[in-house]
Amino acid sequence: MSALEAPAFAALLANGCPSCGKRYFVARAIATGVMQFLDGEPASAMEWTTSRDDLPARVYRLECSECGATPFQRDDCPTCRAPGGTARALAGRHGIAAPKACPQCGLGDLSLTVEARMHVEYTIGREARRVLDAEPHEPGFHIAKADCADCDGTVVSVPEIRCGVCGRSSLLRRRPS
Ligand SMILES: [Zn+2]
Ligand SMILES: [Zn+2]
Ligand SMILES: [Zn+2]
Repeated sequence: MSALEAPAFAALLANGCPSCGKRYFVARAIATGVMQFLDGEPASAMEWTTSRDDLPARVYRLECSECGATPFQRDDCPTCRAPGGTARALAGRHGIAAPKACPQCGLGDLSLTVEARMHVEYTIGREARRVLDAEPHEPGFHIAKADCADCDGTVVSVPEIRCGVCGRSSLLRRRPS
Protein backbone atom coordinates (compact mmCIF):
# COMPACT_ATOMS: atom_id res chain seq x y z
CA MET A 1 0.00 0.00 0.00
CA SER A 2 1.22 3.51 -0.71
CA ALA A 3 0.27 6.83 0.82
CA LEU A 4 -3.34 7.58 1.66
CA GLU A 5 -4.88 10.50 -0.18
CA ALA A 6 -6.54 13.04 2.10
CA PRO A 7 -10.15 12.17 1.05
CA ALA A 8 -9.57 8.43 1.66
CA PHE A 9 -8.08 9.20 5.06
CA ALA A 10 -11.01 11.44 6.00
CA ALA A 11 -13.46 8.74 4.90
CA LEU A 12 -11.76 6.14 7.10
CA LEU A 13 -11.98 8.46 10.11
CA ALA A 14 -15.60 9.34 9.38
CA ASN A 15 -16.82 5.81 8.71
CA GLY A 16 -15.09 4.25 11.68
CA CYS A 17 -13.04 1.12 12.19
CA PRO A 18 -13.83 -1.61 9.63
CA SER A 19 -13.56 -4.19 12.44
CA CYS A 20 -15.41 -2.65 15.43
CA GLY A 21 -17.10 0.43 13.99
CA LYS A 22 -15.68 2.81 16.63
CA ARG A 23 -14.25 6.17 15.63
CA TYR A 24 -11.20 6.43 17.87
CA PHE A 25 -7.96 6.18 15.96
CA VAL A 26 -4.25 6.74 16.35
CA ALA A 27 -2.39 7.75 13.18
CA ARG A 28 1.37 7.15 13.36
CA ALA A 29 3.40 9.45 11.13
CA ILE A 30 6.64 11.28 10.41
CA ALA A 31 5.60 14.93 10.49
CA THR A 32 7.36 18.28 10.24
CA GLY A 33 7.75 20.60 13.18
CA VAL A 34 9.88 23.45 14.46
CA MET A 35 11.74 23.37 17.75
CA GLN A 36 13.94 26.04 19.33
CA PHE A 37 17.41 24.94 20.42
CA LEU A 38 19.84 26.76 22.69
CA ASP A 39 23.54 25.74 22.61
CA GLY A 40 22.61 22.44 20.92
CA GLU A 41 19.91 21.50 23.44
CA PRO A 42 16.12 21.64 22.98
CA ALA A 43 14.61 24.79 24.47
CA SER A 44 10.94 24.54 23.48
CA ALA A 45 8.15 22.10 22.75
CA MET A 46 7.62 20.97 19.17
CA GLU A 47 5.40 23.24 17.11
CA TRP A 48 3.93 21.05 14.35
CA THR A 49 3.87 22.65 10.92
CA THR A 50 2.45 19.78 8.80
CA SER A 51 -1.09 20.93 8.00
CA ARG A 52 -4.12 18.71 8.52
CA ASP A 53 -4.42 18.41 4.73
CA ASP A 54 -0.82 17.30 4.37
CA LEU A 55 -0.75 14.93 7.31
CA PRO A 56 -2.38 11.89 5.59
CA ALA A 57 0.55 11.65 3.14
CA ARG A 58 2.90 11.34 6.15
CA VAL A 59 0.96 8.58 7.94
CA TYR A 60 2.52 5.11 7.87
CA ARG A 61 -0.04 3.35 10.09
CA LEU A 62 -3.58 3.95 11.25
CA GLU A 63 -4.65 2.01 14.33
CA CYS A 64 -8.04 1.63 15.97
CA SER A 65 -7.69 2.68 19.64
CA GLU A 66 -10.55 0.40 20.64
CA CYS A 67 -9.75 -2.97 19.04
CA GLY A 68 -6.21 -2.56 17.70
CA ALA A 69 -7.14 -3.18 14.05
CA THR A 70 -4.88 -1.46 11.50
CA PRO A 71 -7.06 -0.33 8.58
CA PHE A 72 -4.06 1.28 6.91
CA GLN A 73 -0.34 0.53 6.82
CA ARG A 74 2.52 1.25 4.41
CA ASP A 75 6.27 0.70 4.42
CA ASP A 76 7.65 3.26 1.97
CA CYS A 77 9.34 6.44 3.23
CA PRO A 78 6.69 9.00 4.28
CA THR A 79 8.62 11.80 2.59
CA CYS A 80 10.54 10.42 -0.44
CA ARG A 81 8.49 7.20 -0.85
CA ALA A 82 11.56 4.95 -1.17
CA PRO A 83 10.57 1.28 -0.68
CA GLY A 84 11.13 0.10 2.90
CA GLY A 85 11.81 3.66 4.03
CA THR A 86 9.46 3.69 7.03
CA ALA A 87 11.54 1.15 8.96
CA ARG A 88 14.76 3.10 8.25
CA ALA A 89 13.09 6.38 9.24
CA LEU A 90 11.94 4.97 12.60
CA ALA A 91 15.17 3.16 13.43
CA GLY A 92 17.73 5.78 12.45
CA ARG A 93 18.71 9.44 12.55
CA HIS A 94 19.22 10.78 9.04
CA GLY A 95 19.18 14.52 9.56
CA ILE A 96 22.00 16.81 10.67
CA ALA A 97 23.40 16.99 14.22
CA ALA A 98 21.94 19.84 16.27
CA PRO A 99 24.42 22.71 15.84
CA LYS A 100 25.67 24.18 19.14
CA ALA A 101 25.78 27.59 17.50
CA CYS A 102 25.22 29.31 14.19
CA PRO A 103 28.27 28.56 11.97
CA GLN A 104 28.05 32.06 10.51
CA CYS A 105 27.53 34.37 13.50
CA GLY A 106 27.95 32.15 16.57
CA LEU A 107 24.46 32.71 17.98
CA GLY A 108 23.45 29.77 20.23
CA ASP A 109 19.75 30.31 19.73
CA LEU A 110 18.57 28.43 16.62
CA SER A 111 15.26 27.38 15.14
CA LEU A 112 15.39 23.77 13.96
CA THR A 113 13.05 22.22 11.40
CA VAL A 114 12.57 18.57 12.28
CA GLU A 115 10.97 15.52 10.67
CA ALA A 116 9.90 13.46 13.67
CA ARG A 117 8.17 10.29 14.65
CA MET A 118 4.81 11.24 16.17
CA HIS A 119 1.19 10.21 16.47
CA VAL A 120 -2.13 11.96 16.13
CA GLU A 121 -5.16 10.96 18.19
CA TYR A 122 -8.57 11.18 16.56
CA THR A 123 -11.79 11.22 18.56
CA ILE A 124 -15.03 10.73 16.63
CA GLY A 125 -13.39 11.74 13.37
CA ARG A 126 -11.71 14.86 14.77
CA GLU A 127 -8.05 15.50 15.45
CA ALA A 128 -7.69 15.60 19.26
CA ARG A 129 -3.95 16.01 19.74
CA ARG A 130 -0.48 15.52 18.27
CA VAL A 131 2.20 13.78 20.31
CA LEU A 132 5.95 13.67 19.64
CA ASP A 133 7.27 10.09 19.98
CA ALA A 134 11.03 10.67 19.68
CA GLU A 135 13.26 12.82 21.87
CA PRO A 136 15.98 14.83 20.08
CA HIS A 137 18.66 12.20 20.82
CA GLU A 138 16.51 9.25 19.78
CA PRO A 139 15.96 7.40 16.47
CA GLY A 140 13.09 8.91 14.48
CA PHE A 141 14.13 12.53 15.19
CA HIS A 142 15.61 13.92 11.97
CA ILE A 143 16.82 17.52 11.93
CA ALA A 144 16.32 18.88 8.41
CA LYS A 145 17.72 22.38 8.87
CA ALA A 146 18.71 25.10 11.28
CA ASP A 147 17.64 28.71 10.88
CA CYS A 148 19.32 31.67 12.54
CA ALA A 149 17.28 34.80 13.29
CA ASP A 150 20.37 37.02 13.16
CA CYS A 151 21.49 35.67 9.79
CA ASP A 152 17.93 35.83 8.51
CA GLY A 153 17.70 32.30 7.08
CA THR A 154 18.90 28.71 6.92
CA VAL A 155 22.49 28.26 8.02
CA VAL A 156 22.80 24.42 7.96
CA SER A 157 20.70 21.80 6.19
CA VAL A 158 20.66 18.15 5.09
CA PRO A 159 22.51 17.72 1.76
CA GLU A 160 20.15 17.49 -1.21
CA ILE A 161 21.64 14.15 -2.26
CA ARG A 162 20.01 12.18 0.52
CA CYS A 163 16.59 11.86 2.06
CA GLY A 164 16.81 13.42 5.51
CA VAL A 165 14.18 11.01 6.84
CA CYS A 166 15.01 7.49 5.55
CA GLY A 167 18.63 8.23 4.59
CA ARG A 168 18.31 6.99 1.04
CA SER A 169 21.03 8.48 -1.10
CA SER A 170 20.09 9.62 -4.56
CA LEU A 171 21.76 11.81 -7.09
CA LEU A 172 18.88 11.41 -9.50
CA ARG A 173 16.00 12.76 -7.45
CA ARG A 174 15.64 15.90 -5.46
CA ARG A 175 14.00 15.72 -2.08
CA PRO A 176 10.32 16.74 -2.30
CA SER A 177 9.78 19.83 -0.19
ZN1 LIG B 1 -11.67 -1.22 15.91
ZN1 LIG C 1 23.68 33.35 12.55
ZN1 LIG D 1 13.09 8.93 2.37
